[in-house]
Amino acid sequence: MKFISTRGETSPLGFSDAVATGLAPDGGLFLPAELPRISAADLTAWRDLAYPGLCVAFLRRFATDIDEPTFAAIVARSYAHFDHPEIAPLVPLADNLQVLELFHGPTLAFKDFALQLLGNLYEHQCRSRHQSINVLGATSGDTGAAAIHGLLGKPGTAIFILYPDGRVAPLQERQMTCTGAANVYAMAIEGSFDDAQDALKEIFADQAFRTQHRLSAVNSINLARVLAQCVYYLSAWLRVPVAQQDNVEFVVPTGNFGNVLAGWFLQRMGVPIRGFRVATNQNDILHRLFTTGNYQVDTVAPSVAPSMDIQVASNFERFLYYHEGRDPARVREIMATFKSTGTYRFEHFDADTFSATRCVDAEIPVIIKSVYDRYGYVVDPHTACAFAAPDPDRLSVVLATAHPAKFPETIKRAIGHEPRHPSLEVLKARPIVKHAVAANAGAIRTFIDQHAV
Ligand SMILES: *Cc1c(COP(=O)(O)O)cnc(C)c1O
Repeated sequence: MKFISTRGETSPLGFSDAVATGLAPDGGLFLPAELPRISAADLTAWRDLAYPGLCVAFLRRFATDIDEPTFAAIVARSYAHFDHPEIAPLVPLADNLQVLELFHGPTLAFKDFALQLLGNLYEHQCRSRHQSINVLGATSGDTGAAAIHGLLGKPGTAIFILYPDGRVAPLQERQMTCTGAANVYAMAIEGSFDDAQDALKEIFADQAFRTQHRLSAVNSINLARVLAQCVYYLSAWLRVPVAQQDNVEFVVPTGNFGNVLAGWFLQRMGVPIRGFRVATNQNDILHRLFTTGNYQVDTVAPSVAPSMDIQVASNFERFLYYHEGRDPARVREIMATFKSTGTYRFEHFDADTFSATRCVDAEIPVIIKSVYDRYGYVVDPHTACAFAAPDPDRLSVVLATAHPAKFPETIKRAIGHEPRHPSLEVLKARPIVKHAVAANAGAIRTFIDQHAV
């Protein structure tokens, strides 16, 4: 299978090259040239597979340039460090409400699903080409931690993660800075997540620098992330009661549109998912988009759900490509307008399987308490946003994107006690190692020049 850019000005690449490249050279995002069809027979055949087997069966349709035993071994390694035998367990709370727990990976957030896999894919790429790779990403919290744990100590790799100093949760910072691994550089920058993202875009636009250091992106735009995330939607859909399978609405806490996009791909490939609810925090560009057709940046208001404190939803461009009839010239035009004016107004914004809710900060502890009182279940502040307005006529499958123990202050405020997790207790005793760097591309480039492998 070949992968094309949303902006149509990059030659199609195979899976491994598209994954290693990250952002397409024309500034667009990689997509499969054709989405494969998932048939009813496939779904039947996949019903009883355990998570890694399902992952191999599904991703084999895309990763056609890696032989099957090698690929199966990569997948097995990627899900070996999860602390639940089902990897992504589905927990029923009521007849029409289930929670898909995506926090059993090494950093206790859903991003481990993709970034454990991505780390092993990079390692495979380095080995098979006898090359080193330098990975660069910006994070508002969980991405950095998950990316770092995907590459921890892997030979031939170094990872540079930019994060807004003082604006990620303390335990998230510890997950990035207390690893003790020599190939990890946690870079605390002065500014917001979007400042970090802007600097990163500028660096990736510098082709010579990219080539010199074999730089790869590891934010939520990497193709492998979206594809890996499809698998837990598929796994959940296969596990809901058969009588409810045609009435499933996934409720997805999102900022970048990365998570929910994966579910939507699956629907396009033929899995009969009823709909998706996009659940934002007070940084609600996606809520405004889906309720008014207006895509407009605003300033970021830091919230108690910091991994969704984003105003530019970088994965939205992939959805846009399909929305605009797979016309890269239209995508270029819209993205250029959006970039220069900060806004794009869709005349006919047709997204019928999507609905949206938003949650301001004051509501989050209230929801955490009411979910706890009603079901005896503790949700983290991001997942809480998904409980804002349940639809009683659907089977809501809420994606629990992080373990509550990552956000002890907010949880304690809501229900009076702090949840704990053993892996976080270990981190609290370790020293923090971080590198303070100015939020400009020049300073970041200099740092990478000094430390790249
Ligand atoms: C990253 C993250 C999100 C948002 O994910 P998107 O890629 O923006 O969809 C939500 N919750 C948690 C806990 C996260 O780490």
